[in-house]
Amino acid sequence: MTDLIFAGNWKMHHGPTAARALIDAFLSSYEPYDDREVWFFPPAVSLTEVTRAIRGQTGLRSGAQNVYWEEKGAFTGESSVSMVRDAGAHVALVGHSERRHVFGETDTQTAKKVAAVLEGGLRPVLCVGELLEEREAGHTEAVVLRQLAAALAGVTGNSWGRIVVAYEPVWAIGTGKHATPADAAAVHHTIRDWCAQQGAPSRMPILYGGSVKPANVEELVAEEEIDGVLVGGASIDVESWRAITKVGLD
Ligand code: PEP
Repeated sequence: MTDLIFAGNWKMHHGPTAARALIDAFLSSYEPYDDREVWFFPPAVSLTEVTRAIRGQTGLRSGAQNVYWEEKGAFTGESSVSMVRDAGAHVALVGHSERRHVFGETDTQTAKKVAAVLEGGLRPVLCVGELLEEREAGHTEAVVLRQLAAALAGVTGNSWGRIVVAYEPVWAIGTGKHATPADAAAVHHTIRDWCAQQGAPSRMPILYGGSVKPANVEELVAEEEIDGVLVGGASIDVESWRAITKVGLD
């Protein structure tokens, strides 16, 4: 069984040539381990290249940073679930904080995306998390539960087994500040309880994201509630990404 998921969100970094170079460098010392998987989320334009480079490698997956819920049509700039699946994606991020706060994605849109991802046979990684002012006002739990309830309202039956949640406090993303392991674990516990009440398996993967680095990953994944990490900045440098994905192996 896979215990840990290391998901690297490259954001808008690495076109096909740079993506290939990063994956080749990563693979030069990659060994699969039963207890973990490594997921790559390159920009859409590099998805095929990454998929090709990791083909046949145990424990590695590629995913989409974003999808649109319609199948095809006049939606300039968007990619549908079937398109990213054709490019090799097994998973897709939904509701990343940059989608929500830079591009204005709403809870209603995240729900449509989760439904489309499930319908298209992929696993959604639903990102939730509070802004700094929401945390300071004591609203972390309310915000996270609102985002979960909105995005996962239509999930039923066996589909719960394909959901992954990433708790990413917005104030921790790309800032160098991260939640303490205990604070993150407490929010994960709330997420797990709520999802279990709706029908999710008790071991539904819940990742932590927000300024994860080689220096702090060990204490984060040591928490029973933290099933892996979603990493932005430190996933686009091969040395730091290798160090993060090998945590606990030495
Ligand atoms: C992210 O992009 O999901 C993220 C957590 O970024 P960073 O690791 O750079 O904070």
